[in-house]
Amino acid sequence: MLRYDPRMQLEFFGAAGEVTGSCHIVRAGGRQLLLDCGMVQGGGDAAARNRLPFPFEPALIDAVVLSHAHVDHCGRLPLLVKRGYRGPIYTNPACADLVPILLRDAADLAVREAERASGDPAAGAAAQPLFDAQDAEAVVRQLVRIPYDELRELLPGIRVRPREAGHILGSSSIELFVEENGIRRKLVFSGDLGQYDTPILQDPYTFKSADLVLMESTYGDRRHRGRDDTERELGAILAQAARDGGNVIVPAFAIGRSQELLYLLAKHYGEWHLARWKIFLDSPMAIAASRVYWQHPDRFDEEASRLRGSFRGMPPLPNLVLTESADDSRAINNIRGGAIIIAGSGMANGGRVLHHLKHNLSRPECHVLIVGFQAPGTLGRLLVDRVPEVRIHGQRVPVAAQVHTLGGLSAHGDQDDLLRWYDSFSPRPPVFLVHGEPASSEALAVKLRERGVTATVARPGLQIDLAGVNALAHDGSIP
Ligand SMILES: [Zn+2]
Repeated sequence: MLRYDPRMQLEFFGAAGEVTGSCHIVRAGGRQLLLDCGMVQGGGDAAARNRLPFPFEPALIDAVVLSHAHVDHCGRLPLLVKRGYRGPIYTNPACADLVPILLRDAADLAVREAERASGDPAAGAAAQPLFDAQDAEAVVRQLVRIPYDELRELLPGIRVRPREAGHILGSSSIELFVEENGIRRKLVFSGDLGQYDTPILQDPYTFKSADLVLMESTYGDRRHRGRDDTERELGAILAQAARDGGNVIVPAFAIGRSQELLYLLAKHYGEWHLARWKIFLDSPMAIAASRVYWQHPDRFDEEASRLRGSFRGMPPLPNLVLTESADDSRAINNIRGGAIIIAGSGMANGGRVLHHLKHNLSRPECHVLIVGFQAPGTLGRLLVDRVPEVRIHGQRVPVAAQVHTLGGLSAHGDQDDLLRWYDSFSPRPPVFLVHGEPASSEALAVKLRERGVTATVARPGLQIDLAGVNALAHDGSIP
């Protein structure tokens, strides 16, 4: 039985015209496959948008493929399951090991937010959690592992193969081979792409052919500092902070940034005189994720593989303190100087980092290190934008601490990285740009058009008839 208008199709739902809420759908042979099911993040109406009905019927989705374990890509999977999806959720093994850590935390957060809201008679739907631990566990049970570089037929007419994306551990780009009525098309979904030469991880996979590319564009309008410059800059900031005598607060994503920072600190431990610091990894989720990282050396690059020989479970930082309990975390508030505190959330819109910012932001001898993308409306973005005062837990806090943005540590490739990734395709397939604020996506589109590429910034609800896309990749012998 056909479950939709019988045409091979790609449709964009989320992360179209913005960075978060990644969600796209591929239809072929009467079946529907969902690519990612991410949470909308940031301020404003994000919470309300996450509660909206999906623009498709969850029970009628036949399979889900997940690119990686960031909340803006997998955060609404528990809601998808809660609203009726019972099928498999395919991803690579490393990602499948990270997803439970992330979703259990997300469920916990959703329940606590609802409890807080329930005291407010005007809370309405916000008094009910978006999903709970049971929904998260259901997702974990529905996970099915596909090793990197292995081709699998997931549905009649739809085959996929995950490839390295170099963004976080277990991040993948997805090759999709779809077929209907003898017409075949190859799509490549970039997922989130890392920088080339990023610490720990291998470079993004080099593709050669596709009929159509869906590509992220988070930093489509920016160039990061080079890797060596970035590491030098980090060393210089820590040296300055040591002279100033305060603390260093790093809002960092539990999965990705935290592990890379620890890795860099271990790598430069002697050179940067880090023995004078106490380094806190103040996040149970980041601690758990670090363990998963170290269990997947098969995804490491050459340098990390070599260094891992001397690592025991974590980078060998003798002054690293793992604070699992809330009491241990609170105890850090008494430390006035000499602490590097890595804590979530990555955009400082919740989590333990708020306490640390509340205690340190007003002190000029303290430093804040921004190491990842900050969505509009988040506290992290306000700090990047150098506002003189912020509100934390309803309290006004003047910003006297020195705020540094280390773009070079981003998990996302910059414009050069994105173009380098795309340039491996020959001939050059048309591109739909997703996962970027409009200015970034448009800037990358302009660069691609200069190369003679048909580049379009995707918008929610846009449907592409795949049979109507000129076939570039197929010589009859795919894949
Ligand atoms: Zn990501």
